[in-house]
Amino acid sequence: MEKPRIAYLGLGIMGRGMVSNLLKAGYSVTVWNRSPGPVDEMVALGAASVGSPSAAADGADVVMYCLANDEAVEAVVFGAGGLLEGAGSGQVFIDMSTVYPALSRRQAEAFGAIGADFLDAPVFGSKGEAAAGGLWVVVGGKREVYERLLPVLEVVSETTHYMGGAGSGTSMKLVGNLVVAFQLEALGEAMVLARKAGLDLQDVLGVLHVTDFRSPIFDGVGASLIARDFSTSFALKHLYKDANLITKFAEELVSPTPGAAAIREVIKGAVNAGLGEENASAVVKVLEGW
Ligand code: NAP
Repeated sequence: MEKPRIAYLGLGIMGRGMVSNLLKAGYSVTVWNRSPGPVDEMVALGAASVGSPSAAADGADVVMYCLANDEAVEAVVFGAGGLLEGAGSGQVFIDMSTVYPALSRRQAEAFGAIGADFLDAPVFGSKGEAAAGGLWVVVGGKREVYERLLPVLEVVSETTHYMGGAGSGTSMKLVGNLVVAFQLEALGEAMVLARKAGLDLQDVLGVLHVTDFRSPIFDGVGASLIARDFSTSFALKHLYKDANLITKFAEELVSPTPGAAAIREVIKGAVNAGLGEENASAVVKVLEGW
């Protein structure tokens, strides 16, 4: 079967990695981004570019996007010159952003109303996994659409997981990021305590690496904490956005999240300290300050 023509919107840290892998896999990709800088970079790799989301949708078989937050998705999908203006029946729209599940369901309804399909397909993994085509994708929507789009999703991922109907992918993403927030906070608190105790932090990481509570996050983030490298793979402002989405989601479902509430306050403190553009691991600086 011929490869579908892909449009990709949102060339941030994650989008650029995914587009470069789609191009490498031989897909024809047309890109759009709000600001022009990253567009040139993707055009240099072989992408075409257009001037608006509606123009990106026009003529594409599959439209993928990975945008900062709910507001960005609102603008790009529902706004003037947005995807819905260029969308037609038979197309598939795949939202890979981390957004509120109700927004995923609203998109599914809006695209469904014009005969198009929609998948919410947010991702786990960060800059490195996006660049290497090794993300972990969690998907909501119709199963047959998910199965049909697997060849495309597999280009950007190590594994894909069908979670259920529309909004199930973003629900899983918030469940997973609850765990991520705890792991970052746990590592930060542990490293501050270990230093106060006079332990060698490399030795501490050596133990965390092998024990029955090990985690790739402890390895990767732990090493960068020791190196004091807070260059951005996953911006702290996005972690704060996710902490707020988790709070709202848990409220909606009357689900208890006392630990997440406490961690959200630490993340908020880090944003207020001006660390929002740094890597999420910069939450440790708040703990160190205390
Ligand atoms: P990023 O580097 O900050 O990129 C954000 C993208 O959204 C950029 O293309 C930006 O355009 C666009 N955007 C922001 N506001 C917009 C608006 N109002 N209208 C149109 N476009 C807008 O973010 P990222 O790290 O790639 O993350 C993207 C999404 O994936 C987020 O939902 C994030 O939570 C999620 N995610 C990230 C990671 C990670 O490790 N980085 C991992 C998993 C999931 P400009 O270039 O014009 O600013």
